[in-house]
Amino acid sequence: MTGERCVVAKFGGTSLSDEAMFRKVKKIAEEDPSRRYFVPSAPGKRFPGDAKVTDLLIRLYEANRNGKETEAVLSGIFSRFDGIRTSLGLKEKVDLEGEFDLIRSRLAESPSRDYVLSRGEYLNGLLLSAYLDIPFIDAAEVIFFDGNGELEPELTNRVLSRRLARQPYAVIPGFYGSRPDGSLQIFSRGGSDITGSLVARAAGADLYENWTDVSGFLAADPRVVDRPRFIRTITYKELRELSYMGASVLHEDAIFPVKLSNIPIRIRNTNIPEDEGTTILPSRQTDGETLVGIAGRDDLSVIHIEKDRMDAIVGYAANILNILASLGISFHHTPAGIDSLDIILSDAELAGREDDVLRAIEEGACPDHIRIEKDLALFAAVGGKLSEDPAFASAVFKALSDEKIPVRIHCSSYRGMNLIVGVSKQDLPRAIRAVYGVFA
Ligand code: ASP
Repeated sequence: MTGERCVVAKFGGTSLSDEAMFRKVKKIAEEDPSRRYFVPSAPGKRFPGDAKVTDLLIRLYEANRNGKETEAVLSGIFSRFDGIRTSLGLKEKVDLEGEFDLIRSRLAESPSRDYVLSRGEYLNGLLLSAYLDIPFIDAAEVIFFDGNGELEPELTNRVLSRRLARQPYAVIPGFYGSRPDGSLQIFSRGGSDITGSLVARAAGADLYENWTDVSGFLAADPRVVDRPRFIRTITYKELRELSYMGASVLHEDAIFPVKLSNIPIRIRNTNIPEDEGTTILPSRQTDGETLVGIAGRDDLSVIHIEKDRMDAIVGYAANILNILASLGISFHHTPAGIDSLDIILSDAELAGREDDVLRAIEEGACPDHIRIEKDLALFAAVGGKLSEDPAFASAVFKALSDEKIPVRIHCSSYRGMNLIVGVSKQDLPRAIRAVYGVFA
């Protein structure tokens, strides 16, 4: 791909849900010949209440496994693809009947869940390749997992880049790859984003476009803040902070392959292609800018531990974290005082195990005082060098105090670009509105 501009375009399920959406995608593809590689998801919802093809495939798999009738759901899936094929005039070019005969015969052999679920992307890839009239590359031949189901990023990159070097244009279906024994393996839900990122890295792309049904990331959750603004540029790191707190447009793991090669990701809206979208970059100028975005989550608890002279006891915190590790419990943050330590973790991680945790820490670390508080929410105010800007922190705390919202915890990493603040769960929406309002 040397010398020539190369863009990888991944299209999500809503962007390829029916004939009309396929037409929009083709227009986008033809508008810019530097768009060379296309990564489709399975057809998504066409209207509220509609089923995504991947969800229908889950239903198909379950019915087959439980020995129930599969023909009705199978023919529902067939008609989704056949509807697109027929209205786009691809009847001669795509042998859907042959593909469905194959699926039917595999169903008789109790296939793996991953095989069944991967068929949505595979079939949509066949349709898109026929419609754009460019070659199809089966993801099973170029995306690899090890025997434990972990992605093999370097092997994938080697094989995929060799393949793409011979193929200046191609469609590569998202969401799946293969294991060493040839069986198929899928990513977690929304994983076509990861395929797109792997293709962008292997192609040495100038840009990874992620086409979806929104015009990028919003600076706050629109269910909490009235008409928040769109974020124009954001760094990989800032995005990671917001995604952790619950801002979701892109699969979390999609950042890592392109980050290795400094390839920007741009979120675009298939329905409004003239919108610039949000660009995710390795770094950016932050002069004159304060808040990039704010996001929060209210599914957290805190284990509060007090111990006199904790600072003088070598390995005290490590001991407590080891106790949690031995119970198989992971934590998120550990803000600390002089003689106290707070361990923040998700409610789900603790559910039903509070007594075990308290007992194990009491026995193994003899704290002076320990308690679990379940009423914690955190929000992260993310931006340039926030933790180094005293005006920023004071504006956040003033906004909270004006609203009479007590601050339970706050922390920020050394030279970090976000400020994390803990409040009661019930105060979270008000806190986000108040802080966003200061910087809007
Ligand atoms: N079709 C899969 C899902 O619904 C993967 C994807 O769309 O990225 O999760």
